[in-house]
Amino acid sequence: MSGTPAVPFFSAPGAAFGVDLGDCLQRVVDSGWYVLGPQVRDFEAAFARYVGVGYAVGVANGTDALALALRALGVGPGQRVVTVANAGCYASTAIAQLGAEPCYVDVEPERLTLAPGALAEVLRAMPVAAVVATHLYGQMADIGAIAALCRQAGVPLIEDCAQAHGARRDGGSAGAWGAIGCFSFYPTKNLGALGDGGAMVTDDAALAERLRALRQYGWGRKYEVTLAGGVNSRLDELQAAVLLAKLPRLDAANAERRAIAACYAAAFADLPLTCPPPPGDDDVVHLYVVRTPRRAALQAHLTAQGIACDVHYPVPDHHQPVHAGRPVPDLPVTQAACAEVLSLPCYPGLTPAQAGQVIQAVRGFFGEGGPC
Ligand SMILES: *Cc1c(COP(=O)(O)O)cnc(C)c1O
Repeated sequence: MSGTPAVPFFSAPGAAFGVDLGDCLQRVVDSGWYVLGPQVRDFEAAFARYVGVGYAVGVANGTDALALALRALGVGPGQRVVTVANAGCYASTAIAQLGAEPCYVDVEPERLTLAPGALAEVLRAMPVAAVVATHLYGQMADIGAIAALCRQAGVPLIEDCAQAHGARRDGGSAGAWGAIGCFSFYPTKNLGALGDGGAMVTDDAALAERLRALRQYGWGRKYEVTLAGGVNSRLDELQAAVLLAKLPRLDAANAERRAIAACYAAAFADLPLTCPPPPGDDDVVHLYVVRTPRRAALQAHLTAQGIACDVHYPVPDHHQPVHAGRPVPDLPVTQAACAEVLSLPCYPGLTPAQAGQVIQAVRGFFGEGGPC
């Protein structure tokens, strides 16, 4: 099917937040300052406050945030970093940048996030330099248990929060549990820029200082390189201005995502389809991901009906072509999920009529009638 689908997969980053982005971009254009200036400083302060930590450091994208976090924690070549294999290979890319080795552990069957039991086994069995726990699809991993295991083992924890802006668990925000929390502001994320952007958050002043140096050539001061391993990964003023303007509306946008997910959960309850647990107040529903062994057929059916959908993610990290020839870990839950997951449209700005079309099309596939 060609042309724009009746129900697209994402909304425009500004529209659904009710923010006039043209206006805030023009102010930056007129200001004469374009990289690491007042907008970045103000956004960093506002975002740190939002997450509930002391410091935020803006960078160019979420993958750089993960790589710089690993570097700031002293991870180096040949060291082992534990992570999951079902989260789009971003952490693996960051780990590879450092010459470190990914050690994949399996995920929990319901949330599809890092399984604490599997993590405990690995931490018992071998030396580990860091753990990257990914909060997936807007649901947080069992982060209290994971943080406790890391603490006991003396291993630093990094949270990948790229799909969890504003998510909470047991009273703590995504990003506030580990030594460093890493965010992406890619346009489709819950808090999205008009291009690439990212941030690292931490409560540790010395770590924040190191992250600030690493994002800009390793500079301690201008033109003085004090830290090895620095890169150029700066957040620009245009993106920071957009993020600063959108941040006050993030919770409302997340509530809209939850409402759509709740509507889907009710409408699909009687279908032979595995749905995510109905969203609680602490979830932020980055993606609404269903599971079915008939994924290919359901995806084709929805596409033919003008409903955009996608698979997050079709290839687990350990089966990526770049890993060919390496020993293959046994990750049955990860493996099964990758074969069955399908993401349905779910974002602020999706109209009730569009949600109704999605529901009708999904129910139609299973030979059931329209929405109740
Ligand atoms: C999007 C994403 C990233 C990477 O962010 P970029 O800004 O695209 O580099 C990392 N981890 C997860 C889980 C993501 O969804």
